[in-house]
Amino acid sequence: PAQAAGPANPPEAVARRSARPGPHEAKVRQLLGRMTVEEKLGQLQQLPWAYNTGPGGGQTKEAEEAARNGRLGSVLSIFGTKSSNALQRIAVEESRLGIPLLFGLDVIHGFWTTFPIPLAQAASFDPDVATRDAEVSAKEARSNGVHWTFAPMMDVTHEPRWGRIAEGNGEDPYLTSVFTAAKVRGFQGDDIVADDRLAACAKHFVAYGGAEGGRDYNTVDVSEQRLRNHYLPPFKAAVDAGVATVMASFNTISGVPAHGNTHALTDILKQEWGFDGFVVSDWTGVHELIAHGFAADGADAARLALNAGVDMEMTSTDLAEHGKKLLRSGKIEIGRLDDAVARILRLKFALGLFENPYVDEDAAVPEPTPAARKAAREAAARSMVLLKNDDRTLPLKRTTSSIAVVGPLAGSKDMLGAWTFPFATKPTDTILDAIKAAAPGAKVAHAQGVDAEGKDTGGIPEAVSAARAADFTVVVAGEPAAMSGEAASRSDITLPGAQEKLIAAVAEIGKPFAVVLLNGRPLALGDWIADAPAVLEAWHPGIEGGNAVADVLFGEVNPGGKLPVTFPRTVGQVPVYYNHENTGRPFDKDNKYTSKYLDLAHGPQFAFGHGLSYTGFEVGEPRLSTSRISAGALRKGDTVEVAVPVRNTGDREGDEVVQLYLRDPAASIAQPVRRLRGFRRVTVGAGRSTTVRFRLGADDLGFWTNAEDGRLVVEEGVIEIYAGNSSETTAKQILTVT
Ligand code: BGC
Repeated sequence: PAQAAGPANPPEAVARRSARPGPHEAKVRQLLGRMTVEEKLGQLQQLPWAYNTGPGGGQTKEAEEAARNGRLGSVLSIFGTKSSNALQRIAVEESRLGIPLLFGLDVIHGFWTTFPIPLAQAASFDPDVATRDAEVSAKEARSNGVHWTFAPMMDVTHEPRWGRIAEGNGEDPYLTSVFTAAKVRGFQGDDIVADDRLAACAKHFVAYGGAEGGRDYNTVDVSEQRLRNHYLPPFKAAVDAGVATVMASFNTISGVPAHGNTHALTDILKQEWGFDGFVVSDWTGVHELIAHGFAADGADAARLALNAGVDMEMTSTDLAEHGKKLLRSGKIEIGRLDDAVARILRLKFALGLFENPYVDEDAAVPEPTPAARKAAREAAARSMVLLKNDDRTLPLKRTTSSIAVVGPLAGSKDMLGAWTFPFATKPTDTILDAIKAAAPGAKVAHAQGVDAEGKDTGGIPEAVSAARAADFTVVVAGEPAAMSGEAASRSDITLPGAQEKLIAAVAEIGKPFAVVLLNGRPLALGDWIADAPAVLEAWHPGIEGGNAVADVLFGEVNPGGKLPVTFPRTVGQVPVYYNHENTGRPFDKDNKYTSKYLDLAHGPQFAFGHGLSYTGFEVGEPRLSTSRISAGALRKGDTVEVAVPVRNTGDREGDEVVQLYLRDPAASIAQPVRRLRGFRRVTVGAGRSTTVRFRLGADDLGFWTNAEDGRLVVEEGVIEIYAGNSSETTAKQILTVT
């Protein structure tokens, strides 16, 4: 199939295959047969409710009116049993056909119970963390009137400046794919009809993470092979896991905005992958085709989006306004409209909304349960990454007689991170509270020192004297939540305000201290990193963040998280990421002509996959079940087993993430220097060993070419197979593909 041709794209070029019929097909067809064109267009319309302006304000009246007239299919940003039932009653009892509304909400990492941000969850390298978050979130949200979440967000990115890096799983397509599938399973379970499940939405389709310069919404120009090897795999994983819906992305893809991109939405997603759910636009994404310079006006935007494969329009109203005229003039076809409506109705049937449109007002989960809090605390602790720990500075002894806790975020409850609700339950304990509780015998002094963002250094002397008087100091530094998320990119990703000055002043004292970082992205840590003996990356850890930080600081939990993104040395080094391609001059002897900067050491500050433990680990060389395999056998489904021994060389039990990387050193399309293709987080007792086994097949050893109709090739030759506990490992074996 050819790339979408823009405005000249004829309607016959699209929707050649409608979605696979499911168990509700007869009912869907029957209902479709009774619908007027206006009612059909109505199903495609999603309007916002008014949670940010308060019930009764904002768009509520407009949504009610549309529901009554059968001109509304879905509402976003609605929650609460009473409000959702009241609106649903209008659709079901007052509209001509009584088709129930679908209620969507951005349940990204929690509803009442906020889990660590998704980037942090990825750092756990434990997909069960994502599943548990999704299960808890689904239960809380569904019982409060929500049917559908706009998650998981799975935009792979190399851009730490991009605020939305917090919402995804970092820079690796494989890690993101595993976490995406885990999250979809957690939200949807075996059957979304269950009253503790949500329909999921894979977003944003596609390549949004490639935004130039990390500025939100920005241009993306990407080759087909990069699209298929890098950006698409997590979405394929979501579709394979049965994700109910997909959201189009705000960016252009090589000149064609995602909302008008037939190649992405129809050729790949719906045809090649057979996705049978529906595609929702992003917020006013259809209308934005005009601003993109792709559509002439609203009617043109509606035509382009529907024909490209968008099925539901969020917030803007171009399809509802112009659909009828477009049909009459033959610019859109009834077959495509019916296909979009059928996809939406199928989900409403699958959710059981025709039988049970209302939510039980007495069964709503009213607040975080103790079990949910416990899961959030474990998730946060499992997500933390010990970046540095010179001379076993940590764990902190509970018998330490005096501790100074300084820094702008030590006494702060701003730990939830981006994409949480104004109504989400606030953390009960700050890090300061949790440290006091964990060391009841210690004298704990607190001084903020500096604000999170302000330049004023006037409070530093007070923090320094507290630190000087204490046996140990914990500095809690980082970014307020508002510094990451949508439309929250930063050009300077160092610690904001005067925080670096505070850390430098504490370091100068020469006593033991640890820095705890709370942030929504990789930071350029600056010169202070050399002088800080211990650094714990805690991300935005969620509702139980305070307690989880104390769990790790005092060694109740031995940290085992790893970086899902590279930490650059400076902002100017961005983008720097582990899965890059080589230049022709990677190993220059004097390091003169390598791809680097004159004023900066080569390589990142902390590599992808890096993370320490309170014990030590040795990951051995990988052992292969065979050193030769034919490409034909791989294509038929044969696999190679890779066994990797891991030994705990220290004196306490701990977790290690055994990581498996590949490199194809001579391929028809130059391959990345490392590609993660397997990982397992294991718990190993002191002095003990275990062996982790992986299987590699054609999907792992092959790569996608530039062919637009999708070709995964497994080429003959040598593949290097690396095992280790970070992407910088050099332990390898050779597999020859014949
Ligand atoms: C975001 C989406 C989100 C939607 C609805 C948009 O601005 O890009 O990720 O789901 O708003 O809140």
